[in-house]
Amino acid sequence: MRINILALGPEEQPVPFAGTVDLSYMVRWGEAPFPEPVSVSGTACRKHGQTLVELEAQYTLHTICARCLQPVVRRETADLDYVVMEQLEQDSPQDWVEAPGGMLDITALVGEDLFLALDAASLCSKDCKGLCPACGADRNQTDCGCSAQKKIDPRFAALSKLLDDKNDTQ
Ligand SMILES: [Zn+2]
Ligand SMILES: [Zn+2]
Repeated sequence: MRINILALGPEEQPVPFAGTVDLSYMVRWGEAPFPEPVSVSGTACRKHGQTLVELEAQYTLHTICARCLQPVVRRETADLDYVVMEQLEQDSPQDWVEAPGGMLDITALVGEDLFLALDAASLCSKDCKGLCPACGADRNQTDCGCSAQKKIDPRFAALSKLLDDKNDTQ
C-alpha cells in the first residue's frame, strides 16, 4: 500500500485513505505474527512541505506469550502517526520518514511499528504468572507450590542453624 504525498491536493486539507496491507511475510520465532490482512485507515495532510499521516491499524496478533509460552490470538488496534517529507533534510528529526519521489510505503511503516510493538503485546494477559523457574509448571493453571518452599542460601545455612540453636536455649 503506497500513498503519493505529492498528489494530495491543497495544503491543510486532510485526504482520507483506507485499505489492507499484507504483513504475512513477517516472521518472529519461526511464526508469522500477522498472518491475516491488516486493515489500515487514516488521513494524510500536507503542510509547509511536510505531510502528516495519521492512521489506525486493526490486526489479529498471533504469537506466544513471552511468560507462559501459551498461544496468543487477539484483535489489536494501533494508532500511528508520521511526519513525512519527500526528502529529509540534514537536521530533520530521526523519526521523520522519507518518501522518495513522493511515494510513501505504508506497508513497510506499519509493518515495522507493529513488529516493534510485539514484545509489549506478547503476553496472554497483563498479569500472566508465567512458568515456574524451578519446575516449569504453568502457574496460571496450577499452583506447583515451589515458591512456598523456603530456600536457604547455603552460605547462610550455618547462620540459620546458629540462630535456631540460640532460639532453643531460650
Ligand atoms: Zn501467559
Ligand atoms: Zn514449580
